[in-house]
Amino acid sequence: MASGEYLDSTWYGASSSNYTQADRPSSNTIDKVIIHVTQGSWSGAINWFLDPNAQVSVHYTVRSSDGFIGQSVQEKDIAWHAGNWSYNQSSIGIEHEGYVSDPKWFTEAMYVSSAKLSAYLAKTYNIPIDRSHIIGHHEVPDPYDPGQYGGINNHTDPGDYWDWDKYMSYVGDYAGTVEDTTAPTVSSRRPSSGQTGVRRTTNVMATFSEAMDKATLTTSTVTLVKGGATTPLATTVTLSSDGKNVTLDPSASLARRTTYTAKIEGAKDLAGNPLATTTWSFKTGRK
Ligand SMILES: [Zn+2]
Repeated sequence: MASGEYLDSTWYGASSSNYTQADRPSSNTIDKVIIHVTQGSWSGAINWFLDPNAQVSVHYTVRSSDGFIGQSVQEKDIAWHAGNWSYNQSSIGIEHEGYVSDPKWFTEAMYVSSAKLSAYLAKTYNIPIDRSHIIGHHEVPDPYDPGQYGGINNHTDPGDYWDWDKYMSYVGDYAGTVEDTTAPTVSSRRPSSGQTGVRRTTNVMATFSEAMDKATLTTSTVTLVKGGATTPLATTVTLSSDGKNVTLDPSASLARRTTYTAKIEGAKDLAGNPLATTTWSFKTGRK
């Protein structure tokens, strides 16, 4: 069978009637993992998500006996598992084979396998490893009944027998060993490439696909050059506290009706993956 997105998973797919296509994390931020228990068998869950009548789905389902992971919905798409649309939009759902009333289903193999998956998700989407971001279905608000939880149907999973202390400690341990090997990219630029009539007092900004290493975003790696010149302008360069936005503030107003070229070269993400050198130009207006 084909591998799922997570390397230690196998792809099964869900009926397209059971989830919403999206382009996360561009279309919707992913900032949560939601933990479920199937109240049935692993194969029953996988097959249910294939049935167009189900009207439910989840991204991953972990098997009790051996921790085997099946993937039903791509991470970019919105699975229907939380019973709360905004939580569905912002989360990855993981089902665990078993019953909330019977702890024998929650095997060591399942905890280990699921914790590795959560660690991978946390690293991939910069999800903080804490109990505000890795939550149980029972912690999802009921969208129609304030004060009630477990989504619209007030589910109680994963239940009292789920060992959160153990699970969170495993996720933390595995996150330390999961390596980020994805190179960062620039997702937006201001002024944009080719923009004209730019104000002479503009700052230059770039947004990155992930948090960057502050030490690699300085006046020597983020530069602005006036058309035809070679020496960069005097500027101040600052990185936002989340590491995803850099701002270059020129010390003096730019010349009117002049082309400037911004360049980012030598920047790296927190894991040391280099950003490809990027340059773009814009032209100032009269003011
Ligand atoms: Zn659930």
